[in-house]
Amino acid sequence: MSVQRSELTFDEVAAKYPDFPRLPLLKIDIQRRGVLYSDAALELFDPAVHQGGGTHIFGNRDGKITGRPEGMWLRDGTSLVVTTAPIEQNPYIIDAIDGKLYVADQGKPIEEVFYWEKPDYYDKKTSGGIAMQNVISARPQRLSLSPYRYCWFWSDEGGGGCKFCDIVSNLKQAKNEVAMPTKLDLTDIRETLNEALKERGRYTAICVTGGSDIRGETPFDSEADYYIEALRAVGESFSAPKIPIQLICTAMKKDQLQRIYDNTPVSSVTMDIETLDEEQFNRVCPGKAKWIGYKEMKRRLFDAVEVFGENRVNTGTVGGVELAEPTRFRSEDEALERYLSEADDLAAHGVSAIHCVWNPNQGSAFAGRRNGSLEYYVRLAQGLQEIRRRHNLLIDFDDYRRCGNHPDTDLARVF
Ligand code: SF4
Repeated sequence: MSVQRSELTFDEVAAKYPDFPRLPLLKIDIQRRGVLYSDAALELFDPAVHQGGGTHIFGNRDGKITGRPEGMWLRDGTSLVVTTAPIEQNPYIIDAIDGKLYVADQGKPIEEVFYWEKPDYYDKKTSGGIAMQNVISARPQRLSLSPYRYCWFWSDEGGGGCKFCDIVSNLKQAKNEVAMPTKLDLTDIRETLNEALKERGRYTAICVTGGSDIRGETPFDSEADYYIEALRAVGESFSAPKIPIQLICTAMKKDQLQRIYDNTPVSSVTMDIETLDEEQFNRVCPGKAKWIGYKEMKRRLFDAVEVFGENRVNTGTVGGVELAEPTRFRSEDEALERYLSEADDLAAHGVSAIHCVWNPNQGSAFAGRRNGSLEYYVRLAQGLQEIRRRHNLLIDFDDYRRCGNHPDTDLARVF
């Protein structure tokens, strides 16, 4: 069955939701449609000054990862984490006029944007000869570390990965194009972090994530062990016992989470459920369904609150993937109602649900699919922020300051 979608234009959505701030609205639409850089925009991109792409664990809608900017700033100070899309998919155009960079649509400039400045450490190498930008990547305000980039849900026994995910094809491409290592050496992590921290005052947090690892005496022991090693290596650069590190890991059992919490400086955890409906979860995330299961994922999230404490646990979803056909939802309204009622249940147990905008990347099984309408994402962002407000949940470890890739947590500054 095909899903009935709203077809309102940007201006119509802006008029229908006058309280929704304009820049976050534009940001959602840019993430939803993707961007294409004009030749003039690329002329303004200076690899000596600006941060280039190629370090992210996931790819893009047009299948290219290098030779262009990694992201941009909006003038409200939030970052714009974008996917590049081919012209047939009707992306916004990043264009240059009189030496300034703009987001443009239908030939008209809409909003000035700014390329991310390249971190000082990006051109350096570790003593082992690895490019530091491949050890720790950066957003303007945070560092991102992926100690292990392969996901075992894509192995023969893995169950089939997640259908929106291109981590393995992206890793293969990144290995060929930028010599990206699959697994990081701890010495490389220490050296790169120490170098990055020389740029004082730039970073507010560190995000540590990677692929799932089903190996070990009990599933995911191997992943827990390796995160403990990597997080301890990070902790050596700090004197405080807990620092603003967000670990995005597989939904592990309580004893595994406790081991990570007790032995490392990590202070918050994200375990991604990906979509808030069991039937769609089984269809979209067969690997997680095989190794964990939807109800067990929720139980483990509730356990995580006992380990990490209140306001320190959330779960990521790929907003709009509930509309990926085949789906039991006949309309965006139906999907949204189900999504928000599950988010409310999570919040009642102290877990925030957050979303990013689903991009059907070329290297994923869902390449070429259609994501949600702009109105869908506006209602989703508002709904999630409203649930957090009602349950008195804070999201400061994953908001516009720390991450900037979640429309709902961007709203934490205004609502
Ligand atoms: S758990 Fe799913 S989304 Fe995460 S890396 Fe593995 S396949 Fe991709």
